[in-house]
Amino acid sequence: GPAVSCRGVGKIWAAGTSRAHEALQDIDLEIEPGEFVVLLGPSGCGKSTLLYLIAGLEQQTSGLLTYFGDAVTAPSPDRSLIFQETSLFPWLSVWENVSFGLQIRGDSEPDRRAAAKEVLQRVGLAEAGSKRPDELSGGMRQRVAVARALAMRPRVLLMDEPFAALDVQTRQKMQDFLIDVWRDSGASVVFVTHHIDEAVALADRVCVFTARPGRIKETVKVDLPRP
Ligand code: ADP
Ligand code: ADP
Repeated sequence: GPAVSCRGVGKIWAAGTSRAHEALQDIDLEIEPGEFVVLLGPSGCGKSTLLYLIAGLEQQTSGLLTYFGDAVTAPSPDRSLIFQETSLFPWLSVWENVSFGLQIRGDSEPDRRAAAKEVLQRVGLAEAGSKRPDELSGGMRQRVAVARALAMRPRVLLMDEPFAALDVQTRQKMQDFLIDVWRDSGASVVFVTHHIDEAVALADRVCVFTARPGRIKETVKVDLPRP
């Protein structure tokens, strides 16, 4: 079955208060294992809200949201969320940042070392393990963020405008990089952007949102060759 399934999902922020605010309405969406889905739409249409719901960081107000058949009720490193400015721990080295989740999970030191080495190679940062985040460029920091997520072997990567803070050239390189990493990982990606170019370059399928409340207006299959 699908990796992620949304059936009639709605989200009202501050439901039941005078500040109640409907961010999402009646979202039907199925994401297959290994599929690359882009959520495209104007600012405020609920794209980030939907990622929070899939991540389990927030609960939907209506409808059913499942991850490989199970209702999503809490966060899991299986569904790692990567933000525009990812919060790497500034006082930890790249190695330590990447190993952190593995350590919390209780992996042994040799296992952590091996896993961190492998993912840092995959993101092209094998040589940067002992550096601190502030010694890296913005693009490299986002690679570390992807490595940190990949170390947990997620089946779904949730990415909220991850390249929005990067210059145009770096963004292009990061798109190519992401496609390579995604292909090797076998994970599904749900990628949020408001750039049509980025959506078309990356997606198997683009879900186009309308605002107030956020709804999926149409779903477009993309059949362009990737780099
Ligand atoms: P997008 O990612 O498409 O820009 P968001 O999901 O961030 O849209 O926002 C959708 C709506 O939900 C907006 O009106 C926003 O103000 C509201 N919203 C987002 N996050 C919160 C929050 N934590 N609390 C209350 N309202 C929120
Ligand atoms: P909780 O303790 O409430 O279950 P967590 O703190 O484990 O939540 O997870 C919150 C979010 O942060 C999840 O999306 C998870 O994937 C992510 N996360 C937690 N620890 C790490 C880590 N070391 N590396 C990467 N992502 C992490």
